[in-house]
Amino acid sequence: MSWKSSLKKRIDEHKHCPVCGISIPQDKEFCTIECRDKYQGYDKKKKRGNILQIVLIAGVMIVFLVVMPFLQNR
Ligand SMILES: [Zn+2]
Repeated sequence: MSWKSSLKKRIDEHKHCPVCGISIPQDKEFCTIECRDKYQGYDKKKKRGNILQIVLIAGVMIVFLVVMPFLQNR
């Protein structure tokens, strides 16, 4: 029982690299600098995509807000 729980604790005490998924020490974020750079690259791309989506939705909403009164007044 005790050796099992200590083993489980040891297994729990590590993280996985978010890029390649290999086990890394708890105090590290990524296994290598390359993986960190890759992850930050992904993150930037993702953020840019989200901003683009928000801008697109906002643009559509503005167009609707501008066009709708014109359509209703006719
Ligand atoms: Zn990695």
